[in-house]
Amino acid sequence: MNKYKISSLGGSSDKYGKCEVCGKHVSDVFIQQPYEQFTGPDGEVCWETKESIFGHKECLLSMRTDETKEPLEENTYGND
Ligand SMILES: [Zn+2]
Repeated sequence: MNKYKISSLGGSSDKYGKCEVCGKHVSDVFIQQPYEQFTGPDGEVCWETKESIFGHKECLLSMRTDETKEPLEENTYGND
């Protein structure tokens, strides 16, 4: 099960490079950070940070797999 966080970098491919998904120029580059769920040694739910990707928002959204329906809160991971 995965969660994703996506945010705009506020710049184009001139600054951040071409889309990592389709390889084309992007006028407004987004970064997507995936998190993969795993169960810790005490049975608690943990989220592992996976490699982030850059590109068109639409391309990044199309890369999502097995996404949970719950929204990802900024502080629901890494604090406990
Ligand atoms: Zn793209």
